[in-house]
Amino acid sequence: MSLCTEVATTFTSRFGLTADGVWSAPGRVNLIGEHTDYNAGLCLPIALPQRTYVAARRRLDRRLRLWSGQADEPVDVQLDEVAPGHPGGWGSYVAGVLWALEEVGHPVGGLDLVVDSEVPVGAGLSSSAALECAVASAVADLFELDLTADDGGRAALAAVCVNAENTIAQAPTGGMDQAAAMRSREGHALLLDCRDGSVEHVPFEPETRGLALLVVDTRAEHSLVDGQYAERRASCEQAARELGLASLREVPAHRLEEALTRLGDPVVRARTRHVVSEIARVEQSVEALRRWRIRELGAIFDASHASMRDDFEISCPELDLAVDTARARGAVGARMTGGGFGGSAIALVPWGDEDEVGEAVVEAFEDAGFRTPRYFAVDASGPAGRDA
Ligand code: ADP
Ligand code: MG
Repeated sequence: MSLCTEVATTFTSRFGLTADGVWSAPGRVNLIGEHTDYNAGLCLPIALPQRTYVAARRRLDRRLRLWSGQADEPVDVQLDEVAPGHPGGWGSYVAGVLWALEEVGHPVGGLDLVVDSEVPVGAGLSSSAALECAVASAVADLFELDLTADDGGRAALAAVCVNAENTIAQAPTGGMDQAAAMRSREGHALLLDCRDGSVEHVPFEPETRGLALLVVDTRAEHSLVDGQYAERRASCEQAARELGLASLREVPAHRLEEALTRLGDPVVRARTRHVVSEIARVEQSVEALRRWRIRELGAIFDASHASMRDDFEISCPELDLAVDTARARGAVGARMTGGGFGGSAIALVPWGDEDEVGEAVVEAFEDAGFRTPRYFAVDASGPAGRDA
């Protein structure tokens, strides 16, 4: 049975009524452009084939009853009690969406809802945005908000989901994940300009070029993660302030060296070098993709990884090993992806070599005494929407 059918069946057995419908949204993996979103920069995610499904039914009152196949405890909360940190846990990602819709003046109400997901949770593949965006699609349709039909509405829903995650779940997130889940197009990467929120769809079908995109979920867990995102963000803001700019996006790549001479702190300089060069690498990647210059794209991926490892210092031994092993086994290019300190890496590999490269990474992890990683090939999939 597909997860879409399954989640509807679970809904009926939990609530004793049939759901009004089923909606889903994808996880995402970023091809390139890391820690650029909160610097008003560029990034280039694709929507994953793995999705989070929600079966939902509109209620006449303002109660929210929520279940998830990925959570031990259900959530039962009144919409009017939703506030920063409340209901807490996974329920905040769902309830936060309804709260954030009301914040921008959309009338919504109570909901019965069941979640089930194929997106690995906490693997840097954005299960959180997949959950928010599946819920946002369901609520927009059920309460007839007319926000899912065009990209303008979808951009508004993505912003609502960012606010839900930042304010109610109290997790910092820059906007790339929700844009990927709401605004992607199948067979395309999403070039997102975080300065004005505009998007471009860049054809991305590696299999037509004899390639596959391999994702390696390192399953590494590092206790340092908390606070690191805020620290990196603060360094970037400090750099922009010292340069008298609204954001690091305002530093063109050819002015980078000059800008660096005006920054006193060597750490802030290194962070700045990553952000400015990474934004340039997104532009270069789009050019390379449009012409399918594979070697060039691979080299850009490699340079991006080095920048994150050495200048932004967000890699970890597991990510470095996954990337180095994939390259040694014939990947055209490889890099860590997502926020860092664990999570996933991507590698562009010759089509048909996915398992060989993946198994090589598994073996290397075993030799190093790391947890067994997971790997899978992905293609660029479609955005959030109604399934049934
Ligand atoms: P990720 O990289 O997967 O987005 P996050 O830490 O941002 O990692 O988000 C993970 C959190 O999102 C989980 O701890 C949980 O609270 C919530 N979440 C994501 N998917 C689900 C799901 N299917 N069911 C319940 N909660 C979920
Ligand atoms: Mg997340």
